Amino acid sequence: MRTAILSDFDGTVSRRDIGYNLFHHFSQGRNAELVPLWKSGALSTRECLLKEAAMVHASPDEIFRFLDQFELNRGFEDFVRQCRSNGTDLIILSDGLDFYIKYVLERFGLSDLPVISNTGLLENGGLTVTFPYDNQSCDRCGSCKGERIREYRQRHPETAIVFIGDGYSDTCGVSEADLVFAKKDLEQYCVLHNIDHVKYDTFIDVSRCLMERGYMRD
Ligand SMILES: [Mg+2]
Ligand SMILES: [Zn+2]
Repeated sequence: MRTAILSDFDGTVSRRDIGYNLFHHFSQGRNAELVPLWKSGALSTRECLLKEAAMVHASPDEIFRFLDQFELNRGFEDFVRQCRSNGTDLIILSDGLDFYIKYVLERFGLSDLPVISNTGLLENGGLTVTFPYDNQSCDRCGSCKGERIREYRQRHPETAIVFIGDGYSDTCGVSEADLVFAKKDLEQYCVLHNIDHVKYDTFIDVSRCLMERGYMRD
């Protein structure tokens, strides 16, 4: 059995939610009022990201210096090595922005991991957000993880798909994957909607469970 890992980034690969903290810092906290609207569905991810990006007035230098404080979740670097030695695809599936994901991955020598996300361009002392991925049937997400997983499955029909996440931006993905790892808001969502999942904290837990269930070897 071939396995592919499709994983959320913010709060999953990264220890803290970098997108939230970035917008919170550079909007002087003004983004906080948008979050409940987004969680309730009153605001789509695209509307929310565009509003948040308009609040950012900072140079690339200030933004990258801010990003230097963030760490990866425990066990992630070993997990990347394990995926490589198993020949397992590992893809970052994010509804955040590419520039901070790539910057943080590069700091840890992981810049070759594929990233599927929205796009953020640091220009003219601000941030411009664009949405390169189209969603056919979802008007809530920026890049819908459910649709990206379906696309992956069409290209790799024989591969078992493992999905890892922690929040509301992951909810469209949970019904499309063969095995779901969930924590925080995503775990609550899975419990509420009766969706099979494995509760996890770090990538040490993920790795152990995947080996126990025969998805990967040591
Ligand atoms: Mg997340
Ligand atoms: Zn969606």
